[in-house]
Amino acid sequence: MEKKDISKMLKRELILELHKQRAENDKQEELIQAKIHLITLRNQVQEEKRKSEELQEKLAIQDKDLKPFIDRENQSLLAKLEKITEGNKCYFCKLKFQSETHRRAILKCGHVFGEMCIHTYLILHKNCPICDFPAVLWDICTRWRKLSENSAADDKDNATHMAARLQQGYRIRPTGY
Ligand SMILES: [Zn+2]
Ligand SMILES: [Zn+2]
Repeated sequence: MEKKDISKMLKRELILELHKQRAENDKQEELIQAKIHLITLRNQVQEEKRKSEELQEKLAIQDKDLKPFIDRENQSLLAKLEKITEGNKCYFCKLKFQSETHRRAILKCGHVFGEMCIHTYLILHKNCPICDFPAVLWDICTRWRKLSENSAADDKDNATHMAARLQQGYRIRPTGY
């Protein structure tokens, strides 16, 4: 083999080797880039996780702060509901008022009862069973501005209205007695 040929062959091999090296380097570079990308993603996930945990903590604190408030509101609503329900029922027999058989009757103090029930009670007693305000049979009033069944709000209006009129000395003879 001539010296020239050897040199030519060496040169070609060198070029091939260089190409191989470059390809290898490119692959290495790609790998590094992929790794960097992965690390960035992992960091992002960690950050999101931390944020979500922080948010959850904040929400838990808010829940704790809100709970007593909501409980209080619930209690007060339940109490109101109870009052309305009670206002629609007779203190004595716990039955709902009915225009025919179980009429509402109001005393001077503003408390409302079934007419027959309070009548029976006042034969033996001289006061309102709820507030002890003096009461006699003549105080039983059954004349309502307008009798609307099953309306606690109207009952309250009626009761206030009647109590005010009664306090002004306005008396109505109970019907039927
Ligand atoms: Zn009754
Ligand atoms: Zn009373």
